[in-house]
Amino acid sequence: MAKTHCSIIPVFQHSNCERSELSLPSSYFEVCPLKEKDKSCLKVAVPLSLRETFTYRVPEHLAHKAEVGLRVQVPFRNQKLTGYIIEKGSDDHEGGLKEILEILDEKPLFHKSLVPFFQWVADYYLYPLGRLIQAALPGGINVSHFKTGYLTEKGLKASELLPPDSEEKRLLTWIRENPGKRLPSPLSQAYTFQKRGWINVESKANNRRVRPLKRKYVRVKEGIEREAILGKEAGSSGIKNEFEFLETLFDAGSIPLKSLFSAFSNGPYLVKKWIKKGVLESLDVVVFRNPSGKIMFPPMPPPELSQQQKTVLSVIQTRLEEGEFSTCLLHGVTGSGKTEVYQRAIEHANRLGRQAILMVPEIALVVYMEGIFRSRLGNRMAVFHSGLGQGERYDQWIQMAKGEIDLVIGARSALFSPLPKLGLIIVDEEHDISYKQEEGPRYQARDAAVVRGKMENVLVILGSGTPSIQSFQNASTGRYQLLSMPERVESRPLPEMQVVDMKEVREKNKKNGVISPTLKEALDRNLAEGKQAIMFLNRRGYHRVYLCRFCGQSVRCANCDMSLIHHLKKNQLACHYCGFQIPCKNTCPTCGRQGMRAYGFGTERLEKELNELYPERQVARLDKDSTRRKGHAFKILKKFGRQEIDILVGTQMITKGYDFPNVTLVGVIAADLSLGFPDFRAGERTFQILSQVAGRAGRGDQSGTVIVQTFNPEHYAINAAETHDFQTFFEKEKALREQLGYPPFSYLACLKLQGNNSKAAAAMAQRMGREISEILKKWPKKGKDIQVLGPAEAPLSKLKGKYRWQILIKCGKAMLLHYLLEEVQGLSKKILRSSGVSMIVDVDPYQML
Ligand SMILES: [Zn+2]
Ligand SMILES: [Zn+2]
Repeated sequence: MAKTHCSIIPVFQHSNCERSELSLPSSYFEVCPLKEKDKSCLKVAVPLSLRETFTYRVPEHLAHKAEVGLRVQVPFRNQKLTGYIIEKGSDDHEGGLKEILEILDEKPLFHKSLVPFFQWVADYYLYPLGRLIQAALPGGINVSHFKTGYLTEKGLKASELLPPDSEEKRLLTWIRENPGKRLPSPLSQAYTFQKRGWINVESKANNRRVRPLKRKYVRVKEGIEREAILGKEAGSSGIKNEFEFLETLFDAGSIPLKSLFSAFSNGPYLVKKWIKKGVLESLDVVVFRNPSGKIMFPPMPPPELSQQQKTVLSVIQTRLEEGEFSTCLLHGVTGSGKTEVYQRAIEHANRLGRQAILMVPEIALVVYMEGIFRSRLGNRMAVFHSGLGQGERYDQWIQMAKGEIDLVIGARSALFSPLPKLGLIIVDEEHDISYKQEEGPRYQARDAAVVRGKMENVLVILGSGTPSIQSFQNASTGRYQLLSMPERVESRPLPEMQVVDMKEVREKNKKNGVISPTLKEALDRNLAEGKQAIMFLNRRGYHRVYLCRFCGQSVRCANCDMSLIHHLKKNQLACHYCGFQIPCKNTCPTCGRQGMRAYGFGTERLEKELNELYPERQVARLDKDSTRRKGHAFKILKKFGRQEIDILVGTQMITKGYDFPNVTLVGVIAADLSLGFPDFRAGERTFQILSQVAGRAGRGDQSGTVIVQTFNPEHYAINAAETHDFQTFFEKEKALREQLGYPPFSYLACLKLQGNNSKAAAAMAQRMGREISEILKKWPKKGKDIQVLGPAEAPLSKLKGKYRWQILIKCGKAMLLHYLLEEVQGLSKKILRSSGVSMIVDVDPYQML
C-alpha cells in the first residue's frame, strides 16, 4: 500500500457568512485524472482514525469486478480490514503495492458521484473518510448472522432413544420443533450434535422485513348507478337498515370494513350479500400509524392550493425544470401548508425523472410523512432512520443505489442516500438543532445538504416556520431565494399568547409554587370544558439559571455576553466560552438589590405539583427519563391522543409535529431556562421553542391559548414570539450577533479535550491553548483574525468519569480557520500521545456542554 496525498484543505468560499457557495475547482471531482483503460489499482478508504486514503493493486482475477462504491477486504499492517473503493486508478507506483484480498459486494453501495461529497464532509468536519463512509452506510450492511439447526434422519432416531428428561433430548426436540430458529446458546452442544450427524448447523441472515400494515376496505364497483340500486332493489328485502347501508357506501367512496361493521351490526351479512350481487368489491389498502396511535388513511384528493402555495410552487417548479443548483428558504408559519408544497415539489421532480430526499428532524415525523407519501409511491419510496431493523435498512439502501427509489424520507442520516439521479433535497424544520450530529462525524446535515446540492446540481429547499438566523441571513443577502407563506390555511387564527411576569407573581405570592395564578385559572377553565393541556418545561438535565428575583437579569460574561454557569461546589459563576470566573454574590449587578438566586427545577417537580392541584385528573410526563423504556413515549402519546390524559407535562419532545386537536391550552412554565442557557443561540432557541409550542395549541376547530411564565417579560425573543413577529426578532438577533462576532458573522470551532485524570486534562488543555497562541504568533497578519477563547472547563465538567475542557476558536474566514484546525489536529496527535487525554474537533459547534 501507499499513502495518497489527498487534498485535505476543503473548499470554501471566502466571504464571511456562509459556505454553500462553493468555488469548486474541477479537479475536485476527479481527485486525480485517470486513464480509463488502466484499472489496475484502487484508492481505498479504510475505517481507521487516519485522514489519508491508501492505494492497492487489484489482482487480475478481480480486475473486471472492481468498481467505485464496492467494499473490499485489504491487508493493513498485519490485519485485514474492510475498506471502500473511492477511486479507480492507474499504477505508477514503483512496486511495493499490496493487493486487495477480496471484493465483498456484488453491486456498488454508492455511485462515484457521491465520493466528492463524502470527501467534502470528511475534510470540512476533520473526520477520517473511511470512518465517515462507514457511518453513512446502513448498519445492516453487515447483516448479522445466526446459527440454526435442522434435524437429520439419524438425529430423529437418536432422539427416540434418548432418555426423556435428558438435556440432549430436550435440545433435539426443540430443534425438531423450531426449524430455522436461532439455536439457543451456548452452541457447543449443537456442534457436538453436528459431529454425531444428528443435525446440520446452518448460518442464516437476520433479515427481518417490516411489512406494511394493510386494512380491508369495501367500495361500490365502478359503473354501478346509485339510482338503479337505491331506487329499486334496496328496501325490497325487508332489512330495515339496508337502504342506509348502501347510501353510506355510495356517499363514502371506500370505507374500512371495521368502521362499516361498527356502524351496522349486520354489516358482515350485508357486505357479503352485495359483493355476491356484484355491486360491492373489497380491497386491501396500505395504512400507517402515527405515534399517537391514530391510523392514517391515504390522504384525500389534494385540497385546492391557496394563492400563496401556488406562487411558491411555481417558483419551485421552474427551478426544478432548470435542473441547476439553487437554494430556496421556504418561510411558512405553522399551519400554512408547507407539507402540501413539499408533496407537489417531489411529484414534480419525479415527473422530471429525478429523485428526492426529504429530511425531517424526528423519527415521529418520518412516520407521519411516510403516511402521506406511501399510498402514492408504494415501493418506490424508502424511509430511513435509526428506528428501523438492520435488514430493512440494508434492503432499502441497495434499492436506492440501484435507482429503484424515487423518494427517501429520513432523519439527518438520509443525507447520504445513494440516489443516482438526485434532483431535490428538502430539509424540513431546517432550524432544528437535531440536524447537527453530536458524535462520530459531527456534520450539520442542513448545511451539508446545500453542499451536496451544489455538487450534484440539485434544488435544495430549506423549510421552516421559524428559520435559523443563519439561513435567514443567507436569504436576506440573496444567497438563498426567500419564499414566504405568511398565512395559515383556511385563515385559522394563530393562538393567543399571554405572558406572565413571574417577578410580580413572586412579590404577591410568597409561596414557592411553579404554577402562577393566571395559569392555574386557565387550566381550571380548560379542564372544566373537557379540553386537554400541555405544560412545557425546557430543562436540559442539570441546568439551573442564576438570576435576580427583582429584575429578572442573569449575570453575563463581560467578554462573551454569555450567561454564566453556576458551579454549586465552588460557589462560583463561570463562563464556559472564555473561562472567566467570579464568586457568587447575593447582590444583583443590574439592579443592586439582594435578589440573586439559582432557579431551576425539573419536569418531575412540575408533575408532582399538578398532581397535587388536580388529584382527580390524569397527569402524565414525557421526557427522556420517563421514556427510557422502549415504546413508552408512543404509549403516552397514544393515551393522550385518545384523551385518556388531561395534562401532559413534557420537555422538547412534545413540541414537534404532533397533532392533538383537543389541546387548547399550552403553558410554558419557565421561559428563562432556555433564555439563560449558556449558548449564543439561546435567544434564537427560545423564539423557536415558544413559536413551536404555541403551534401545538388550537390545531382543531377551537382556538388555542398559550401562557408563558417568565422573569424576563420584556426580552425581545419573548416579545417577538408573543406577536408572532419573526422579522423583528431576526433584526434584533442579527444586530447582536454582528456586534459580538458570533455566527453567521464568524465561524466557530470547539476543541473538546477530555481525560480520566483531572490534573492531566487541565494541564493538556492549558498546553494546547499555549501552543495555539504560538502558532498564531507565527502568522502575524492572519493571526489577528483569529480569536481563541479559553481553555475553559466545560459546563458539564465531569461526564461519565471524564474531566472535560474546551477551547473555542472564532474566525471571520472559514478557510483560515481550517488551516489552523488542520495544524492543531496534527499538533494534538504529538502532544496528547500517551497523555490519557483525547481531543475532538467540533466544527460549527451547536452544543458546548
Ligand atoms: Zn436585579
Ligand atoms: Zn466569557
